[in-house]
Amino acid sequence: MATVNDNYLKLKAGYLFPEIARRVNAFAQANPDAKIIRLGIGDVTEPLPEACRTAMIKAVEEMSDRSTFKGYGPEQGYAWLREKIAVQDFQARGAAIEADEIFISDGSKCDTGNILEIFGKNNVIAVTDPVYPVYVDTNVMAGNTGEANEKGEFEGLVYLPVTADNNFTAEIPSHKVDLIYLCFPNNPTGASATKKHLQAWVNYAKANGSIIFFDAAYEAYITDPTLPHSIYEIEGARDCAIEFRSFSKNAGFTGTRCALTVVPKNLTAKAADGSDVELWKLWNRRQSTKFNGVSYIVQRGVEAVYSEAGQVQIKALVSFYLENAKIIREQLTNAGLSVYGGVNAPYVWVKTPNGLSSWEFFDKLLQTVKVVGTPGSGFGAAGEGYFRISAFNSRENVEEAMKRITEELKV
Ligand SMILES: *Cc1c(COP(=O)(O)O)cnc(C)c1O
Repeated sequence: MATVNDNYLKLKAGYLFPEIARRVNAFAQANPDAKIIRLGIGDVTEPLPEACRTAMIKAVEEMSDRSTFKGYGPEQGYAWLREKIAVQDFQARGAAIEADEIFISDGSKCDTGNILEIFGKNNVIAVTDPVYPVYVDTNVMAGNTGEANEKGEFEGLVYLPVTADNNFTAEIPSHKVDLIYLCFPNNPTGASATKKHLQAWVNYAKANGSIIFFDAAYEAYITDPTLPHSIYEIEGARDCAIEFRSFSKNAGFTGTRCALTVVPKNLTAKAADGSDVELWKLWNRRQSTKFNGVSYIVQRGVEAVYSEAGQVQIKALVSFYLENAKIIREQLTNAGLSVYGGVNAPYVWVKTPNGLSSWEFFDKLLQTVKVVGTPGSGFGAAGEGYFRISAFNSRENVEEAMKRITEELKV
């Protein structure tokens, strides 16, 4: 008899976004004329930069001629792309990362999940709370946790609460953890990390032989020039960190798909016999066996991100969403709400007013002003009493949503 991976049965049936959809659909059915504005899901709305589109069209043309046609590419990505990334994203910032330490992939979501394959089963794993749910669910699927309690916390994971009380930066644990997920600028809180804070994590990881999984999906949104974009700007990070980056949020590739993972060559973890094993070799083996590369067309599109025109265009794209975030911050502050984030990130993290729970505030916003956001409690127990508003939308929708909130919801 065939059996299933029982770990999947421990998952909380992906309840956040389906539950949002259920409540929005019920409201829309009861109020067919209501113009609902969705500021919930974190997907981009603006078109791909022209430089990327032009490069992809040219790449499609190359596919039409036998002499320029491309079949399988390198599993790790084309060298011409990895070189540009190494120079422009890392070396230009003083981060000593080489092209062959960069693995091009079809998404950070997959990479942050797949990376667990090269790690052992007995690691103590820490996540922040609230957190990007992918980190938790992929650990559940991999069998790295026990069952969830009624708050949705999985046995065996270490949760590091991030709230207004600690300025949305997790305290360094007093005990030893082996794998730590950090995401800065943060989804969902919109918080960013200083060099000092990341240095403290790197020092902790080096002292404990831990590995940091650093998710920099939102690095392009950093506006404060003193903040680090990469963990490799921090001294010692090459010895303890893997970094994930994506073209989804800086260049609008959520539907086109392209990302990258950096595994420094000297980075090691222990084998069962106590010897040090290079993680680069394992990840290279994993990718070469289970992945066949990102399409040539898409990699040419991403290469154009690094052209002069591409840089101007992605900066304009990011500025557009950051201006939305600024409008959201200002208007919600005018409405009497306490808001966080939204300065170096496309997410504004709102404290719910009058002690409302995250879901109570969700219902209130939906029913009174027909605006949809994301309940903070859906990202973890410590997100209760908070609410995420995404800046990924048209200016018109953002302005209309904020107008409704300030006019009707002043607290
Ligand atoms: C959007 C996002 C990503 C990017 O995922 P892709 O699979 O590359 O689209 C990664 N991490 C976080 C926290 C995100 O919000």
